Amino acid sequence: MNNFAFSSPTHILFGQGQIAALAGQIPQDAKILVTYGGGSIFKNGVHQQVSEALANHSFGEFGGIEPNPRYETLMEAVSLIRNEGYDYLLAVGGGSVLDGTKFIAAAVCHTGSDPWDILSNDAPVTDALPIGAVLTLPATGSETNGAAVITRGQDKLAFISPRVKPRFAVLDPVTTYSLPPRQVANGVVDAFVHVMEQYLTNGGAPVQDRFSEGLLLTLIEEGPKALATPQDYPVRANLMWAATQALSGLIGVGVPQDWATHALGHELTAHFGIDHGRTLAVVLPAMLRVRREVKKAKLLQFAERVWGITDGSDEARIDSAIAKMESFFRTLDVGTRFGDYELGAADIDTLVAALERKGMTALGEDGGVTPAVAQAVFEAAL
Ligand code: NAP
Ligand code: FE
Repeated sequence: MNNFAFSSPTHILFGQGQIAALAGQIPQDAKILVTYGGGSIFKNGVHQQVSEALANHSFGEFGGIEPNPRYETLMEAVSLIRNEGYDYLLAVGGGSVLDGTKFIAAAVCHTGSDPWDILSNDAPVTDALPIGAVLTLPATGSETNGAAVITRGQDKLAFISPRVKPRFAVLDPVTTYSLPPRQVANGVVDAFVHVMEQYLTNGGAPVQDRFSEGLLLTLIEEGPKALATPQDYPVRANLMWAATQALSGLIGVGVPQDWATHALGHELTAHFGIDHGRTLAVVLPAMLRVRREVKKAKLLQFAERVWGITDGSDEARIDSAIAKMESFFRTLDVGTRFGDYELGAADIDTLVAALERKGMTALGEDGGVTPAVAQAVFEAAL
């Protein structure tokens, strides 16, 4: 196991009715800006619950943060904050609203250059406004981590800073009842792949492995139930907690981590507008087929402990585990091939060229995902 430092400072309020308790997490004299997306929070009652909870605070609102949040939209919020003096951000929505709010929090405090440098040039985040979160879509883990993914033009880039970790997060599973099935499925796949990006590496960390296997098994068991019986509280609660823990940092400590699947997936979103979770369902099976030698020991462990596969040669067990994972994604009605999204071989050059242009030429736990390997992965996903 590698050395590591770990802290998870987000105070979590979990369970039905917990939005009512959020005011206690925010200083009384804060001037709060509530940020949200395209309006789902007005239809499912979350906006009303948040407004009631903040009845004794001063707050304003900024809506319209789109899925895969865009720099231009977020910079409008930065201007609003600078003009009106907000000093606390409350993000209400899915990963896009939370990620967008993290960028806003850092951009307001950024001086000396365009805040886009935080994403494009690794400019340090030296300060950020405090953030609270009300999560309505279990998927990204953004509610307790320091990561955010922001889009400008056809560049979809990530930054990570402990300064943008939410101070608190409200996780009320009931808020997820209104999710369309497509978003439920996207969330299950995203959380599953987050675990895999950390677990399916050459880590030598049995504690993290067994946490990860527990999360994968929970997602495999509860994901289909969430689609079949959408208002089943225990199912939604377990899904929500699994998605949070998939990327809270806990299972990623001391292990190499990979993230090549996410990097290739981001290009599919940036160029073709495919939902984040769906891009991962396309890339991961292909990635594991192409990288099976590097990841052989862990793939065999995954086959045995997650899918119960013990018979056959090493190669047959690996094939079978990847096939079972792919078929799990398809059971959720998430396509796993280029053809499911009307893409073909002719689209691969664009994706590989974009990775090269950004210098993403040595991705993965060992830097082994070169442009040629990325090309092979996309071809394996046709
Ligand atoms: P999302 O983009 O936040 O939301 C997708 C859609 O779901 C939106 O149209 C949203 O509508 C709707 N929605 C959210 N909650 C709802 C509810 N309770 N009922 C009905 N509709 C609801 O989806 P996401 O998967 O959570 O976030 C994806 C983004 O996060 C991507 O940009 C991805 O790259 C990023 N990401 C971040 C991390 C991280 O660590 N920070 C990790 C993985 C991915 P409204 O806009 O109307 O609310
Ligand atoms: Fe993700």
